[in-house]
Amino acid sequence: MTTIKDIVRNDLCVGCGLCVSESQTSTMEWNEYGFLTPKLDDSFNDTAIKVCPFNPNPDNAVRDEDKLADIYFKGSTHKDEHIGRFENTYVGYADEYRETSSSGGIATYVFEQLLKQDIVQNIFVVKELNGTYAYQWFKDAEQIKEISKTRYIPVTLEKLFKEIDTIEGKIAVSGVACFIKAIRLKQHYHPQLKGKIPFLVGIICGGLKSSFFSDYLAQKSGIEGEYNKQQYRIKDFNSTASDYSFGAFDKSKKFHQMKMRTVGDMWGTGLFKNNACDFCDDVTTELADISLGDAWLQPYNKDGAGTSVIVTRSKIADKLIKEGIDNKSLSVEELNLDRFKASQEGSFKHRQKATAYRIKKKRKTQQVIPQKRERLFQSIPLEFKLVQNLRMQLRAKSLTSWKENPNALVFENDIAPLKKELRIKTIIYHYAQVIKGKLGMRKL
Ligand SMILES: Cc1cc2nc3c(=O)[nH]c(=O)nc-3n(C[C@H](O)[C@H](O)[C@H](O)COP(=O)(O)OP(=O)(O)OC[C@H]3O[C@@H](n4cnc5c(N)ncnc54)[C@H](O)[C@@H]3O)c2cc1C
Ligand code: SF4
Ligand code: SF4
Repeated sequence: MTTIKDIVRNDLCVGCGLCVSESQTSTMEWNEYGFLTPKLDDSFNDTAIKVCPFNPNPDNAVRDEDKLADIYFKGSTHKDEHIGRFENTYVGYADEYRETSSSGGIATYVFEQLLKQDIVQNIFVVKELNGTYAYQWFKDAEQIKEISKTRYIPVTLEKLFKEIDTIEGKIAVSGVACFIKAIRLKQHYHPQLKGKIPFLVGIICGGLKSSFFSDYLAQKSGIEGEYNKQQYRIKDFNSTASDYSFGAFDKSKKFHQMKMRTVGDMWGTGLFKNNACDFCDDVTTELADISLGDAWLQPYNKDGAGTSVIVTRSKIADKLIKEGIDNKSLSVEELNLDRFKASQEGSFKHRQKATAYRIKKKRKTQQVIPQKRERLFQSIPLEFKLVQNLRMQLRAKSLTSWKENPNALVFENDIAPLKKELRIKTIIYHYAQVIKGKLGMRKL
């Protein structure tokens, strides 16, 4: 039987910390590649692997996101093969929180409403802790801006289930898709937690970055040595939404800042990404009550102030958004499903269409392969396979290279040949797609 040790040793751990909640003594710790993983002792109980989102042999009732959505959103109004069960799709922003948030400030707004309307009395969210970021308890709706902004650094839910019995009242949690799946699995095996955690806010996620990503960006912004309170999404209100900056304080409390475009594409290339993300086909956080992402879509992407795309999946989430529209706290409107999907187009192609190919490749070197939704499996054209091969190589190389020598210049030289090859193959892939389109052939 596969165990948590197999998950970790096969590089399939995203650090959610749920297995630790099924262990007497294990805790989360940083590994040598800048990710959080559980300490591998012998204290995990039988449920530990069952709550792991990358379990290769899950029970049939909770086999995958489809089965779990059938349990948690059974009465949903709509169902789509790529975004799962849902009520509505929207686009827009929260007037009060847009400026100080990562996208349109909808996450901050939703958490504020959950507290103010007494739907929950506690939230468990990522916020600053001793100059870096971690999941923490929070309950003060008047100070809600403290929880805003996306943090691209590994975090863990470890504390949530260790401390939950000491928390009075109900809890809402934010999380990326695999974390939300882990919570749903935990609720399945411990049904008393369904009432205790009645609302999950899903953060649409393009990949988990190692802490090396922050180290690299800090160096690139001009910091030598230690840094703190790093900001990943500093908006430029006079530019486009994607033209944001990274910034951080050095030891002498001086703030350094640089435009992310100066370091090139950090997301599509897979740099510093966790291996498990190559097996993730849940693009839109299908198991959360509400899913929130960036509106990478015209005309919204032209607005540097930031705009959110929203999927409501539970009736209560949809009510919160509709109330906000009615009382004018939200400048939000319905977004056609196809337009919504277009806002995450690159992610659907990489995560859903190319998963089968990556699994086939990885079977050669990896003993454990997580259970995936075969209905999403499809063949991809040769030109996209070549891009996939390079993304996988570059992802792995970025981690080993930084581990060996954490110096931005050395690192850039080390990965330059692979990066160049990926750029060329990506151009070829895009041209091939355009030509196929013109010839009326099947495109990806
Ligand atoms: C690792 C990661 C990758 C992402 N990739 C994409 C992507 O590819 N495409 C896309 O459209 N959007 C992506 N996002 C989401 C996007 O960056 C915004 O977080 C989202 O649009 C919500 O914006 P907002 O203005 O509503 O949030 P805000 O109002 O600014 O609130 C931010 C919320 O995010 C939570 N949060 C912050 N960091 C984390 C974290 N590491 N894990 C869990 N919760 C966190 C906070 O608790 C808070 O509730 C990603 C987010 C993360 C964390
Ligand atoms: S992904 Fe989560 S449950 Fe699975 S091994 Fe890692 S910390 Fe444990
Ligand atoms: S891409 Fe998927 S597996 Fe990776 S962190 Fe995001 S939700 Fe989790």
